[in-house]
Amino acid sequence: MSVADARTAASGPVVAPVDRPTVSFELFPPRNPDAAPKLWDTIRRLEAVRPDFVSVTYGASGRTRTTSRALVRRMLHETTLTPIAHLTCVGASREEISTIVREFLDEGVRSFLALRGDPPEGEAQWQAHPHGLTTASQLVELLREIEHERCEQSPAQAVRARVKPLSIAVAAFPRGNRLTGSSREQDIQALLAKQRAGADFAITQVFYDADSYLELVGEARRAGVVIPIVPGLIPATDPARLVRTEQVTGVPVPRDLLALLDDADDEAERRRRGLRFGIELIDRVLEGGAPGIHLYTFNKHEAALDLLEGAGLVGRPTATTTARTDA
Ligand code: FAD
Repeated sequence: MSVADARTAASGPVVAPVDRPTVSFELFPPRNPDAAPKLWDTIRRLEAVRPDFVSVTYGASGRTRTTSRALVRRMLHETTLTPIAHLTCVGASREEISTIVREFLDEGVRSFLALRGDPPEGEAQWQAHPHGLTTASQLVELLREIEHERCEQSPAQAVRARVKPLSIAVAAFPRGNRLTGSSREQDIQALLAKQRAGADFAITQVFYDADSYLELVGEARRAGVVIPIVPGLIPATDPARLVRTEQVTGVPVPRDLLALLDDADDEAERRRRGLRFGIELIDRVLEGGAPGIHLYTFNKHEAALDLLEGAGLVGRPTATTTARTDA
């Protein structure tokens, strides 16, 4: 069975070998209900390569609060995927955030990505809610507090928490966070605070050069960060997408990468060039010790799966699994 076949299978016999680097994806909730069927096709195709987790973004001001929750819930109940719910501190009091966290936990969500969040559209400066949280590390603390309370109140909950521990991811920034104006050193201090508060691992902002990731990891380790840091990458096949990502994240796209893509004779050649760039980047970060790869999919499976296939990361079925599944 080829990977292409695997993609068409809703939940085919593809298995992820345990020694494979982690593979994970980011999705966002559909902006309008019409986009939902397409997104679900994408989710099924991503599911077929058995990712370790799929994270679901949370819009500024809780704008996508309802749709994010609905997507996480459906993934949890209708797929084999492990969803990670992004949570932010934007536009909500500590009480409101606590309620959202409890609702997620009641629904069975056990994995979160705790973020401070971007300012809502049209607002240049980030402003904390008057009764809210000001940093991601405070959100990590709150998540741990709520989990602790729930376990104290219910012995059943305490057992369930041992079977399925709460997992908290946080953000890391290979070249500092350009949107907040903080340097790599400052962000490493923030990462240390998140680790102290109880974060389990970090996922990086998008980057285009392996050195920026490897330097971040080296400096973070020297500063005392021990949690895994998973590189977050964007498939570099669509120059317009890269430019839009630069606008949203503040991470500049290397001009030579854009020129390489723009100079391609046709779409197929552009795709090949982008994939080659991405595969080299993946090879370098994995050789440098990265635990896996987190792909920003922008709700598209093709480029993400091509990239994983090119990098040799998607699971292949074993004869026994195939036989068992076919039976
Ligand atoms: P924090 O860690 O709280 O940092 C915020 C600022 O405070 C930084 O400048 C930091 O350096 C400083 N700071 C905090 N603590 C300390 C400290 N102890 N010492 C020194 N400085 C400190 N945004 C969304 O709105 N929704 C999403 O779904 C979303 N998903 C994301 C997923 C990933 C993988 C990443 C990398 C980012 C995502 N973002 C999302 C963007 C993120 O919310 C913004 O980049 C935000 O500006 C910073 O969030 P943070 O969690 O790193 O904040």
